[in-house]
Amino acid sequence: MQRLSIVVPVLNEEEAIGIFLQRIVQVIRKIEDLDYEIIFVDDGSSDDTSRIVHKAHAENPAICLVRLSRNFGKEAALTAGLEAASGDAVVPMDVDLQDPPELVAEFVRLWRDGYDVVYGQRIDRASDTGAKSGSAGLFYSLFNRLSSLRIEPNVGDFRLMSRPALEATLQLRERNRFMKGIFAWVGFRSIGVPYSRPARAAGTTKFNYWKLWNFALDGLTSFSTVPLRVWTYVGSVVAVISLLYTVMIVLQTLLFGRDVPGYASLMAVVLMLGAVQLISLGIIGEYLGRLYIESKQRPIYLVREQVGIHGQVQAPHSLPAISAAVKAGE
Ligand code: UDP
Ligand code: MG
Repeated sequence: MQRLSIVVPVLNEEEAIGIFLQRIVQVIRKIEDLDYEIIFVDDGSSDDTSRIVHKAHAENPAICLVRLSRNFGKEAALTAGLEAASGDAVVPMDVDLQDPPELVAEFVRLWRDGYDVVYGQRIDRASDTGAKSGSAGLFYSLFNRLSSLRIEPNVGDFRLMSRPALEATLQLRERNRFMKGIFAWVGFRSIGVPYSRPARAAGTTKFNYWKLWNFALDGLTSFSTVPLRVWTYVGSVVAVISLLYTVMIVLQTLLFGRDVPGYASLMAVVLMLGAVQLISLGIIGEYLGRLYIESKQRPIYLVREQVGIHGQVQAPHSLPAISAAVKAGE
């Protein structure tokens, strides 16, 4: 029998877990010849999230828990869950029912038809505010222009991956985990399933604009070096312009005598060039900082507790000694 793993990162989602489980279990049970597990990854919740998953596990052993030692962010939590998954296919999902569970049946059908990746594609963003969908659109077009990799607009983490596609994804061990990019980089035979994204079923969003902005920066810097290289061209253009300007000033002085006033234009040029240099330094800093973080080779997440996991959370991300130590310090 084939086995499906559902991976659900959760952060303070005590209200949403019950409703989510009800819907998803109902859907999966209707699919023929399919064994399943539902892995909740508790990303350092401070509410009753873990306890609710424990209780659910007692009633249905197919429901499992990986509890991280603190909040590592959704991308890291997702990675933990994907590594713990033992299924022939895995589906990462949000717990807030914005990824409709009913779609999973369709995903499985297409996977059985031979696709390795089946992703959900939002056809409308009616549940998002105008500012959010506008900035998302801007991000996708900028990303696709700057990076040689193409990410489909309006495709999130909600997708099905076959075991080979999953193994490939897990080989990308960067600390800076921009999942949309990682999923796209891996490739494989893929197909999209359009759906409309409903509003959150319970609780509130865990992402504010500052988090989203940093997320966008991570995405761009992980998958493009254009922002680094562009300064060569900016510099060249400025050099050519300043050369022409110099020639003009020399000629003017020779022909019409010395022209003393010029404080305003001098200030404008000095400030402008200073600003451009600071911006380019800042961008080099962005990349350097990321390089620094990568070079430390820290684990992507640490596990504090596991319940009912069949798959193996790979070393060194769950060194037993570390999880034991974290547990002891509880
Ligand atoms: N989430 C998480 N860690 C975080 C932030 C979010 O595990 O640091 C989970 C959250 O519990 C939810 C999913 O990621 O299951 C998506 O979050 P949310 O619905 O708040 O994002 P939005 O849909 O508003 O983009
Ligand atoms: Mg959501």
